[in-house]
Amino acid sequence: MSSSSQEAVAPPRTATWADVDLACITANTRHVARLASVPVMAVLKADGYGHGAMPVAMAALRGGATWCGVARSEEALDLRRRGLDCPILLLGWAPNALLHELIASSVSLTVWSLAQVEEIAAAARVLGQTARVHLKVDTGMTRLGVEPHEAVELARGIRDAEGAELEAVSTHFACADDPASGVTDAQETLFRQVVSALSAAGLRPGLIHAANSAATLLHPTARFDMVRLGIALCGIEPSATCPVPPELKPALTWKAVLTQVKVVPPGRGVSYGHHYMTTRQERIGAVAVGYGDGYRRTEGNVVLVGGRRVPVVGRVCMDQLLVQLDAVPEAKMGDEAVLIGTQGQERLRTEDVAAIWGTLSYEVVCGITDRVPRRYV
Ligand SMILES: *Cc1c(COP(=O)(O)O)cnc(C)c1O
Repeated sequence: MSSSSQEAVAPPRTATWADVDLACITANTRHVARLASVPVMAVLKADGYGHGAMPVAMAALRGGATWCGVARSEEALDLRRRGLDCPILLLGWAPNALLHELIASSVSLTVWSLAQVEEIAAAARVLGQTARVHLKVDTGMTRLGVEPHEAVELARGIRDAEGAELEAVSTHFACADDPASGVTDAQETLFRQVVSALSAAGLRPGLIHAANSAATLLHPTARFDMVRLGIALCGIEPSATCPVPPELKPALTWKAVLTQVKVVPPGRGVSYGHHYMTTRQERIGAVAVGYGDGYRRTEGNVVLVGGRRVPVVGRVCMDQLLVQLDAVPEAKMGDEAVLIGTQGQERLRTEDVAAIWGTLSYEVVCGITDRVPRRYV
């Protein structure tokens, strides 16, 4: 993403904003879909990893995705209300109070217990419809899912429940981003045994899915009939041990305005608590982004100003932070600071920010709050 293409869009009307390049999402989807050579579900939970669920859904569909997946019932219903008409899977729990609406909206539901199947089937019968369910098997994540030895019994329960239909069987990997771990192979083996048992019982559905981005990239045999991709579509690495192909480009750039520049004498305390003191005459800038926008109040932050990396100094405030600008004497009020993205020759990736914050890139992009408007490039 070149900075000139960023500057081609309208000047900022807000102090901080995120530009999302939907062409990147489309190209990333196309690339991974070709590489995986199985259908792609675009996973859009947490507002499309902070990128905006509906625009990302449309961009991913343009790139060849055929399904969308979400974590929460309201995420599924919101996409439907906005007119998304592809198959949608609710990966997480569905409140009983929303089953009618979910089924009427043709949202496929994930199940791991007979009690859920009974509620879902009853709701579907009231509507005169058939609810499509995905049977989730816990092969080692120890999160949602039926125990492997109970999968056939649950599949029978679904077959026998009038109003429900088994559309797919799924599982989820715990360690797919770690190439040194044997856990994914063990989970895959267990999952294949479950699928075989379902086949033997005449209960195997036509759709089997297991792989997230990391498994799709590092464990080709785990791709089955469809892959569920979230972070890779954003062009971000699942983790440091699971790089994405170089063709994948990050779609999100996060910027804020440099709102004041001042030269202060030695011995000045900077920001709350005076955790930073100037040691000489220093150039200090204020940038209009803070923890109220999802920018973390941790030590060691770095942003780009004037195409250079500059340190954040003193405490990050709710709406602002301070930067040390001695390396960028030409920086002036109204300039753009880049928190995530490219400026000139410098690049600050989501992965870099995650490393500074001691967390995952997922948490960085999901944590950008609603106060930061997303602009679509
Ligand atoms: C979040 C999630 C995914 C997508 O994971 P990525 O690592 O972002 O590709 C896939 N499946 C399930 C069940 C998930 O919760």
